Amino acid sequence: MSRAGGSCSGITSNSSNTLEYLPVKSLYEAITIPFLKVNRGAAPIDSIELADSIDSIESYMPLFVKIFLSNESSISTLPMKQGNRKINKPRVGVHTSIAGGISKSVERAAELNCSTMQIFSHSPRQWRQTAISAEESDRFRVLRNQYDINPVFIHTSYLINLASLSDTVLPKSIDLLSYEMRTADEIGAEYVVLHTGSASGEDGKGARKRAASALMKAVPAGKYRASLLLENTAGSRGDITSSIRSLADIIDKCNSDSVAGICIDTCHAFAAGYDLTTDEGIEIIFHEIKKYVGIDKLKLLHLNDSKKPLGSGVDRHEHIGEGFIGDKGFKKLLSDRRISRVPLILETPKKSDDDDKENLRKVFKMLGI
Ligand SMILES: [Zn+2]
Ligand SMILES: [Zn+2]
Repeated sequence: MSRAGGSCSGITSNSSNTLEYLPVKSLYEAITIPFLKVNRGAAPIDSIELADSIDSIESYMPLFVKIFLSNESSISTLPMKQGNRKINKPRVGVHTSIAGGISKSVERAAELNCSTMQIFSHSPRQWRQTAISAEESDRFRVLRNQYDINPVFIHTSYLINLASLSDTVLPKSIDLLSYEMRTADEIGAEYVVLHTGSASGEDGKGARKRAASALMKAVPAGKYRASLLLENTAGSRGDITSSIRSLADIIDKCNSDSVAGICIDTCHAFAAGYDLTTDEGIEIIFHEIKKYVGIDKLKLLHLNDSKKPLGSGVDRHEHIGEGFIGDKGFKKLLSDRRISRVPLILETPKKSDDDDKENLRKVFKMLGI
């Protein structure tokens, strides 16, 4: 056991430097011995068993190395029980149409085997606020419970601009955001997802300050049961929330109970310059989330490929695997344990009913669901 103890104490350090200098054999032993210990308790480990396990564990190497390099885990938290290993899978859903009534969206999501979903509460390109009957709200609640669709996200109207300098747009935006929060409470949706707005020719900082004060008027702390999430944007001209730091800037200026967290859209992040096709790019975005917002505040991922290249600043969604992020990027991202509890919603193009099915099929396959 002393050998095991010696190896373990070297590798359990969170420093990636330690790992870099370990010879390959020690690295294998350092991973294998704790693995055996988890499976067999305190029983002694002999060298034959160790050698066999080193062979069988090779297939797990990429996962283990990624976890060690992620700089925030320890051996004791690894899901290492082979055979009946239980790794948490995220819930997956699509942005679903409410045509024919809001409760119809639940049936559409359930038909696609979704376990979470996102909807617009009304036409997203109109200011008009549509009342939802109590009957329809009740039906929505019953169906989502029946199909275990949880959480439910409402995506706010595209017209809302909390950074607007216009005397008409700003109050209308505040009013419409309040309506989205009210509707969420009526139908029992857990979250409302907001594109905060864009600056009209002035610097982002001033615009974010204005957006934060408008946000607190629309969503006073404690008024609604639903929680508000801010989504990152693609970085087109006037965008004030294309970096994680800028999202955090608004959250920091708000009352702590007004904003529950963030939604990261993969297409927007890629268009804004986060290279989700590489390990380094993925580490950068997670590092920024951890540093500026907190990993626990990442409440939703919008899974969209990008029609435009890295850093284009253009928001054009593409089918999963068919854009510049590609299968490679999504496979990396979806195998990252940091998203294992984060709901995933597709907002991919829909030309036919089969589009959602095909995109979901790819995501389920990558997740091993
Ligand atoms: Zn999105
Ligand atoms: Zn978009």
